[in-house]
Amino acid sequence: MQDSGGPGEATPPARIVTIGDELLSGERLDGNAHWLARHLTGLGFRVLGIESVGDEGADIGSALRRAASDAEFVAVTGGLGPTLDDRTREAVAQTWGLPLEESPEILRELTGRFRERGYHELPAANRRIALVPKGARPIANPRGSAPGLWLGPESPLDPCVLLLLPGVPHEMKAIMEGPARELLTRTFGSRLRPAMSRLIRTTGVPESVLAGRIEALMGSSAGVEVAYRPSLYGVELRLSARGAEAVQKLDEAERTLVPVLADHRYEAPSGDLAEAVGLALSAAGLRVAVAESCTGGALLRRLTDVPGSSAWVVGGVVAYADRIKTAWLEVSQAVLSAQGAVSEGVARGMASGVRRRMGVEIGVGVTGIAGPSGGSDAKPVGTVWFAVDGLGETRAERVRFPGDREEVRERATQHALHLLLRAVAPSPPSTHVRANPDGLTG
Ligand code: ATP
Ligand code: MG
Repeated sequence: MQDSGGPGEATPPARIVTIGDELLSGERLDGNAHWLARHLTGLGFRVLGIESVGDEGADIGSALRRAASDAEFVAVTGGLGPTLDDRTREAVAQTWGLPLEESPEILRELTGRFRERGYHELPAANRRIALVPKGARPIANPRGSAPGLWLGPESPLDPCVLLLLPGVPHEMKAIMEGPARELLTRTFGSRLRPAMSRLIRTTGVPESVLAGRIEALMGSSAGVEVAYRPSLYGVELRLSARGAEAVQKLDEAERTLVPVLADHRYEAPSGDLAEAVGLALSAAGLRVAVAESCTGGALLRRLTDVPGSSAWVVGGVVAYADRIKTAWLEVSQAVLSAQGAVSEGVARGMASGVRRRMGVEIGVGVTGIAGPSGGSDAKPVGTVWFAVDGLGETRAERVRFPGDREEVRERATQHALHLLLRAVAPSPPSTHVRANPDGLTG
């Protein structure tokens, strides 16, 4: 999404540069970049990019120059400490031709700190912390000795604002949440437009299919960005918009998407489809029992993981052997012999059998080939038959899942939950449009 309005009006673009060899070697996860990205977006910046570089002065300099070329604000972490491998201040000084000057303000503060700890003199190494590129303004560090450094709009970097922050995560956060926040708000004022966002959970539809349908429809919802986050369990959509009209834009986009999301959307505070199933069963006053073969109890596990599930799930049977399917679940021997254990007839028989035997309104049957062996041309590995029996009908469905044994079982379990939800709450109410946008902060 591009912002409308002149360059002085648009959401200010920001970049993040994180410094440290340990980030490049993979020794440490770049938690600072992650936190800053979220924080700056929440404040109302548009984050254009994140770059990590090692401790080499020349690398730091070129990364900063790149970042400052198109961002109006650059947040930098690391390399501000007292040791010789901390070279950020020198890199800034060299890159912009600023002399390093000793700041009496920082020196006084540091000397005071060390005196409190019982040192009469400031260790020589720490004196380096007081060296700042000319024009930089120290920003108090509430949690440590190295202050942040702010090169504001009046500095030679104009029009870019550069903020150097310590690498230690809690010190960096304390500066950002405290003194830096005020400076940023004062500097960028009303141009900071926090993004409002809304999460939509879907399941049972591949990301590419969903994206195709959404892109075909979203032309009418200008100013809304859609992000896709696929996982084994489904695709999470995050809609986001900025500015005064953000809520209306999100409402409109959500309305536009109702037909596309249709049977795939679900809502659950925990994000778990099993919880959505539980809410639907509770609302309808129904109880469920499950008969599982290839999922080996995973479906019952997912259902009973939901707190309070005893109100709507009564139990289940893992019917792995044919003998258990016929003897316990009363699946017809003739159907089993004719169609095989992984078949529509057996899935239906398992669903209705467990429903009758356990005396509830809804029964679910799952039978499939999780692999790696046991597949055939007609029934390859990943083939699973599902049935949901109750409320006067039986729905059955065959799906072929990709992946290894673990993945097939996991996907099959999720699919069974999805079928169950659709059987209990067939079409999602169009009142799904909620007015509770969750900002990215907090
Ligand atoms: P110090 O005064 O401690 O030297 P500094 O500003 O020089 O602070 P670094 O030396 O780069 O910062 O890092 C200090 C600590 O913070 C290290 O343990 C480092 O691994 C951690 N750290 C630095 N950058 C990041 C980052 N991007 N994400 C997570 N941790 C980080
Ligand atoms: Mg350091």
